[in-house]
Amino acid sequence: MKKLFPVLIAGAMLFLAGCGASPSSTPSTSSGGTVEKQPTIGVAIYKFEDTFMTGVRNAISTAAQGKATVDIVDSQNSQPTQNDKVDLFINKKVNALAINPVDLTAAGVIIDKAKAANTAVVFFNREPLANDMKKWDKVYYVGAKAEESGIMQGQILVDYWKSHPEMDKNKDGTMDVVILTGEPGHQDAIARTKYSVQAIQDAGIKVNILAQDTAMWDRSKAQDKMAAFLGAQGEKIEAVLGNNDDMALGAIEALKAKGYFANNKFMPVVGVDATAPGVQALKDGTLLGTVLNDAKNQGTATLNLAVALAKGLTPSKDNAGYDITDGKYVWVPYKKILKANMADAQ
Ligand code: BGC
Repeated sequence: MKKLFPVLIAGAMLFLAGCGASPSSTPSTSSGGTVEKQPTIGVAIYKFEDTFMTGVRNAISTAAQGKATVDIVDSQNSQPTQNDKVDLFINKKVNALAINPVDLTAAGVIIDKAKAANTAVVFFNREPLANDMKKWDKVYYVGAKAEESGIMQGQILVDYWKSHPEMDKNKDGTMDVVILTGEPGHQDAIARTKYSVQAIQDAGIKVNILAQDTAMWDRSKAQDKMAAFLGAQGEKIEAVLGNNDDMALGAIEALKAKGYFANNKFMPVVGVDATAPGVQALKDGTLLGTVLNDAKNQGTATLNLAVALAKGLTPSKDNAGYDITDGKYVWVPYKKILKANMADAQ
C-alpha cells in the first residue's frame, strides 16, 4: 500500500490537471505530431445579415484553421442579445472574446464583464469610445480609419468631375450630391459622410447636399430612400455618395428604375467596402468607384490578436502579424478601387 500511494496521488493529479484545463480547449496535432491545446475564442457579430460583416466573419473562420476553435454567434442587431451571448461565453470559459458591438457605446459594459472574468477582449469594426478602451489593458481594437475611406470617396468624385464636365448638369460649378448614410452614431458613417464632402471641397469644388438620410447600411432601405430623393430632386442630382457598397447598390437599383445606366444616361455613384456585389457593379459599369474595406485582414488581425491574448501573450507584430498602434489598436488600410484596378479588391 505504501508503494501504491504515490502512484495513486500522481494518477489523481493527472486526472485533476485534465479537468482543470479549460473545458473549451480542444486538442490538436501540430505539424511535429505533438498534441497541443487550441484556445477557444468566443466571437459575436452584430448581425450575420450584413454583407461586409459576412466577409469579416469568413476571414475569422479561415484564419482560425489550425490555430483556434471559434464559436461565432449572431447578435441579431440587438445589444441585449449580444450581452447574453457574452455572458454565455464567459460561463463557458472561452479563452478570449472577439466582439463586433451592436452599439459601440455598450463596449464599456462588455469590458467590465470580461475584466471580472479575466478574459481578454478584441473589439472589431465598431470602435469603442476611447475612455472605454482605457478601462483595461487586455482590451484591443481592430478596424480601419474611417476618415481615410471618406477622403478616397471624395477623391473619386473629384477625378470624375474634372474629366467629365457634363457631370455638372446645371453648369453652376457646384457638385449637387445626395448621401446615403450608415447607422447613426457609427464612426464609419459619421466620418465617411464628413470627409467625402470635405475632400471634394478641398479640391476647390463647391458641394451642395441636396438630400441626406440614413439607410442603416442596408441595400433595400437605400433603394427606397434613393427613389424618394429622385422623386423630390430628380435631374438636379449630380452624384450619389453611399457610406457603403450595399447602399450604393440600392441607389443604383432606384436609378435604373428611372432609366439610368442605359442609353448613355449615367450617374456617378460611389460606395465603400469593395464587396463581391460591389466589384461586380464596377465591372458592369454602374458603380463608379468604391474603397476597399479589407475584410480579410480585419478578420485575420482580430483572430490573431485574440489567439495571442488567449495564450497570455501581449499582442505584437511578432506574435500576431500586425503593427499595434498606441498599445491597443490595429489599423488596416483602405484602398481606392475603380474598374481599372478592381483585381486589387479580390
Ligand atoms: C462597413 C459596412 C457595414 C458596417 C457594419 C462598415 O465598416 O462599411 O458595410 O455595414 O461596417 O458595422
